[in-house]
Amino acid sequence: MIIQKTENSKLPTFDPNNFSFGDTFIDHMIICEYENGKWGDVKLVPYGPLPFTPAMMGVNYGQACFEGMKAYKDENDDIFLFRPEKNFERINKSAKRLAIPEIPREAFIDGLNALVDIDREWIPKGEGMSLYIRPVVFATEEVLKARVSNKYMFAIVATPAKSYYSAPVSVKISDYYSRSANGGVGFAKAAGNYAASFYPTQLAIDEGYDQVIWTDDATHEYFEESGTMNVFVRINDTIYTPKTSEKILDGVTRDSFLQLAERNGIDVVVGDVKVADVVAALKDGSLKEAWGVGTAVVTTRFEAIGYGDEKFALPTLADEDSFAFILKKALVDIQTNHAEDPFGWRV
Ligand code: PMP
Repeated sequence: MIIQKTENSKLPTFDPNNFSFGDTFIDHMIICEYENGKWGDVKLVPYGPLPFTPAMMGVNYGQACFEGMKAYKDENDDIFLFRPEKNFERINKSAKRLAIPEIPREAFIDGLNALVDIDREWIPKGEGMSLYIRPVVFATEEVLKARVSNKYMFAIVATPAKSYYSAPVSVKISDYYSRSANGGVGFAKAAGNYAASFYPTQLAIDEGYDQVIWTDDATHEYFEESGTMNVFVRINDTIYTPKTSEKILDGVTRDSFLQLAERNGIDVVVGDVKVADVVAALKDGSLKEAWGVGTAVVTTRFEAIGYGDEKFALPTLADEDSFAFILKKALVDIQTNHAEDPFGWRV
């Protein structure tokens, strides 16, 4: 790895008690370029802009995908990644679907370790604090031809993150738009999936909701995901989540929740989550809670679910009665080195 340290650290201007997530970047980034059929040297360089033109293929044709993961610092300043191999596997699944060449381990895994290590001072510690890490790969060839690019850049940037708290949200079950289709790219963390979700999400926001519950494109009868999270509903004392498929992102948090639920003796059904069943359970009171899961805030509870012209309020459960809370706590304790890690997830 080629290492070029910054001579102009922004760390002295960083206030861990007062920063905004997502627009404060740590001093360094990883970059690695692909051309002539191979990936070049992995470089750790000062964070900053890169020279590209509007003719870059990644911008015009959206040949780009990314990952989202976190590093946590404990009281002893030890730093942990959470299941980084899952993200490494997933970026390469996404890349394959987008005809992007496979990202090498030296760029992704070694890059992550080097970046987190060199900028360890940037990782805020304390409850809910972490470093959010964004590996991303995009087509850089400067040519206006709708075909596979011959040049790419892989990069890793990172931004400090605080507080897991996220206010409960209201979600609207989509009866028209979808984020994916059979044979499509729903399982991939393709940049274009997010672009395509913004407009329907904006419509839901205009109606007073926060997020869209994505349903299957063919019938809109089955839950798929919620916003940019995987989705769980609890009916009586069983939790249900859709099975992952080529239309659903295989979330690391979802997978971890499933394993933790099993360990905590919570009944889980992985399979079809029918809109009609959820609406019936909302009406008869058997729907106890519902929530989305993802790396950013781990869990976002739903306070209301809308379907058509109806909006159903969910019960407010005390933390100790909420499976969402119990599972989130179990997960966060493992991530942050506050509990045994029987699964070997902490790295
Ligand atoms: N679904 C979508 C569409 C997402 O963007 C994310 C966030 N990566 C998730 C689910 C949750 O995945 P993870 O738990 O791996 O963050």
